[in-house]
Amino acid sequence: MATNMRAHEAGTLHADGYGITPNWLPEPEDLSELMPQLWARNTSRDASGALTVAGVSVTDIAREFGTAAYVLDEDDFRSRARDFRDDFAAGFASLGGADVYYAGKAFLCTAVARWIKEEGLHLDTCSGGEMAVAQRVAFPPERIALHGNNKSRAELRQAIEWGVGRIIVDSFAEIDRVAEIAADLGVVARVMVRVTVGVEAHTHEFIATAHEDQKFGFSLANGFARQAVDRVVAKGESLHLLGLHSHIGSQIFDTSGFEIAARRLIELHTEIADEHGIHMAEMDLGGGYGIAYTSEHDPLTPRQLGEQMGSLVERELKVFQEEHPQAPTPRISIEPGRAIAGPSAFTLYEIGTIKDVEVTADLTRTYVSVDGGMSDNVRTALYGADYSCALASRTSQAEQRLVRVVGRHCESGDIVVMDEYLPEDITAGDLIAVPGTGAYCRSLSNQYNHTPRPPVIAVRDGVARVIVRRETIEDLLALDVDDSPPIPSQEVR
Ligand SMILES: *Cc1c(COP(=O)(O)O)cnc(C)c1O
Repeated sequence: MATNMRAHEAGTLHADGYGITPNWLPEPEDLSELMPQLWARNTSRDASGALTVAGVSVTDIAREFGTAAYVLDEDDFRSRARDFRDDFAAGFASLGGADVYYAGKAFLCTAVARWIKEEGLHLDTCSGGEMAVAQRVAFPPERIALHGNNKSRAELRQAIEWGVGRIIVDSFAEIDRVAEIAADLGVVARVMVRVTVGVEAHTHEFIATAHEDQKFGFSLANGFARQAVDRVVAKGESLHLLGLHSHIGSQIFDTSGFEIAARRLIELHTEIADEHGIHMAEMDLGGGYGIAYTSEHDPLTPRQLGEQMGSLVERELKVFQEEHPQAPTPRISIEPGRAIAGPSAFTLYEIGTIKDVEVTADLTRTYVSVDGGMSDNVRTALYGADYSCALASRTSQAEQRLVRVVGRHCESGDIVVMDEYLPEDITAGDLIAVPGTGAYCRSLSNQYNHTPRPPVIAVRDGVARVIVRRETIEDLLALDVDDSPPIPSQEVR
């Protein structure tokens, strides 16, 4: 996964002496207002001022399921999945359509795998565990892709026996491994070659000549990608070369990086047609479409992405099609993860301790602690990701104050929201919600400090239900193996 690193640029000491306002963070006019691009579609405030999702109030969710909790707007998730499916079909209509693979690593559980199956999308997996989730819901294997730079033999065998639609090969050794296992099972495995195209994109800019010092893929620049293709072709008895694959990064806000990636893939696609006479049926441009975590992010919609990606691929394919009028047009696929799962959920926390810390004589910072943190959202600690948050259990007319929201863990880097305005009268027991936590939060979660992981609560049509239950202390202790006899309870002090 690529990073969402944004250098924390300089800010201004806030007029009231509380905090340093980053230059990108505008002072809100009305703290109770929800910025639509940050929140799932069916989020609003009810008459009492409490945040509601699909008709269910967060105060009811907290009472019934406890906090911290991930709250997922099912209809929002499903409609984003459908939007990608339909808008890319429309954007690529002149090329015969496009396939959308939901990148399961963003967030996967059996309910979500079933939603993806029901909405007719394909599914990216990158481990035996993710495949097992898909198998649990009888996901059609021909709509599954398997990724990874170090898939085990067992995982490759699991994929080939199950009959997955594509395995994206990532090393020379793996090409041999896949061929061996396929031969052993008496089948032909469909593979794509992961190409490192030398484009690196994150957030606001991309680099077209990125160094290729990374673990994924075969470099285009040094000829390894060509050699990988040759190797797959040479193993034609057990491997079928489906096409080329690239994934240029994550949290990308414009399509110019994809244009260069597509151009470079199509050049290689053309070379292979010319030299081997092989017309590969597919081409995958990966994922990475950005979402809004704060007011400074302005992502493209699936419709805009479908239109722009469709026309740029059409443009780049033109020469190939003119030179190879008999050749089929490769079918394009894309792999959004964050852009489907991210905006559909927020994390609901309860405020505990509030502490003012004198940083300097002029500067005081208010630390607001919540009942979660880097165990349920490690992205801030891991790579300085920015989030926003809002008071969720009520609204307030109090003055606003710049605060830092932190977790409950034993690390000073355990920050949930670096800088945010909240009403001055927030107090222990208030609920706050952090939007945009549907992707790479639960999936990257951990049990640091022996903290049971929060549940995922799906809300739809006025009904909230658990789709991943809260972890318990018993769950945590279930893995411990201690061969000394248990201590009788009267001796435990
Ligand atoms: C992570 C990943 C994706 C999804 O990336 P998002 O930024 O979540 O859209 C897609 N394809 C591959 C190969 C990936 O590694």
